[in-house]
Amino acid sequence: MLRLFVVIALLLFSFCSANDYTKLNKANTLLKSKNKSDQFRAYNDYKDLYLRSIMAEDSRLRLHALKGIVESGEKLRIDVSEYESELASAQRKQTEATQKQQALSHAKESKQIKLKSSLTLQRFDWKDSKLILKFNDKLSLKQIKYFTLIEPKKESFRYVFDIEGAQIVESPTLNKDSIDEIKISQFTPSTLRIVFENSQKLEISYKVELSRLIITIDENDIVTQKMTGSYYQNPPKKTNRDKTVVIDAGHGGKDPGAIGAKRVQEKKVVFAIAKEVYAILKARGYRVYMTRDRDTFVKLTERTQMANEKSADIFVSIHANSVAGKSAEKACGVESYFLSPSRSERASAVAEKENSADISDMNMFVKENFLNFLNHRKIIASNKLAIDIQKSMLASLRKEYGDVADGGVREGPFWVLVGAQMPAVLVEVGFLSHPTEGKRLSDERYQKRISLGIANGIERYFINN
Ligand SMILES: [Zn+2]
Repeated sequence: MLRLFVVIALLLFSFCSANDYTKLNKANTLLKSKNKSDQFRAYNDYKDLYLRSIMAEDSRLRLHALKGIVESGEKLRIDVSEYESELASAQRKQTEATQKQQALSHAKESKQIKLKSSLTLQRFDWKDSKLILKFNDKLSLKQIKYFTLIEPKKESFRYVFDIEGAQIVESPTLNKDSIDEIKISQFTPSTLRIVFENSQKLEISYKVELSRLIITIDENDIVTQKMTGSYYQNPPKKTNRDKTVVIDAGHGGKDPGAIGAKRVQEKKVVFAIAKEVYAILKARGYRVYMTRDRDTFVKLTERTQMANEKSADIFVSIHANSVAGKSAEKACGVESYFLSPSRSERASAVAEKENSADISDMNMFVKENFLNFLNHRKIIASNKLAIDIQKSMLASLRKEYGDVADGGVREGPFWVLVGAQMPAVLVEVGFLSHPTEGKRLSDERYQKRISLGIANGIERYFINN
């Protein structure tokens, strides 16, 4: 609940709070303009509305925003294919929902009127692994549509039989020990539907013998699967450690990163922490990679590229902050950032520091466009990851250092995160320029506390998601 609240608060904070539908009307007007910059404003407004619609679970707004993004994107020749396909599936879902509604009301009507089907299911019997459905007349194979719906993530297998031109007078219960659920119902006025639902795969075959439909479920197979299948191979455990993590120690080689008091270099501090996070996660059984395993220069794009190549589940970039002048006495604390199009002053200042030389020659238009391609699901997942890391880092540090400041979870345009195809977070482990924090950051004990916090945060994220 708190997490959701933080996500919403962050998003609301970062977007203009004007009424969504007023904004939508404004964007619609801007879109009609012949002026390119008006069209671009409309495009950006639609994207903001789109994110808001996701957070508010407002499917109507989402559909309008998607339409707007696609239309304005096409005018501006921006590649909006991802949104296009999402729009298509959203529209499909809407049509399906309407059809289902219609089918339902039809079904209700038909109960009162009279079913048009000629076949009626008279009785059913189990004979060992065979379910025999007896109708009042001859059945044809052509009347039967059989298909499966498999959702491996939910561990649900559904086997569906639709029998055209058939009806039942009342829905019987068809229990079978080895199968989670069997449902039989009048799906439409003229279609009888039988669904076998199970958490394990079933071997199903069927045949028609005159007025009988015989469905065979291979029970031997079920039994072996239940005994030796996923249960024994993956005994119940709290965490699924079959995950890949890429840890990125910021800077390196010719790029020292921030420089603190006593000329402490960011690249060294963050490398020590990254290595420790690597060791902890590795010991816990995760697949872990580091973008650099020594003091060497690695381009920002190569860092995320590596994560993409390894098909990493998450990418965590580790950095330390520094400020100059008087503020150095005050600025302290740990912060976690996730990539978003937000250009708040605070985020831009930190991002400016971390966005190193190898992207400075990218022109503004390219940068803007990059930010416009951010995928909202990745933003939300990255936000969750940032929250878990931030919480765990503070908890771990405060066990020994009670005064550590919470810089919070923030969003910003960090180029090191842009290319990542997975949830990605940038952690600022503290201020090298602060008198106390700067000293601590070079201390092994403090580094180990932070590393443990980051590793725990990553694990917490995997448990929660
Ligand atoms: Zn840095």
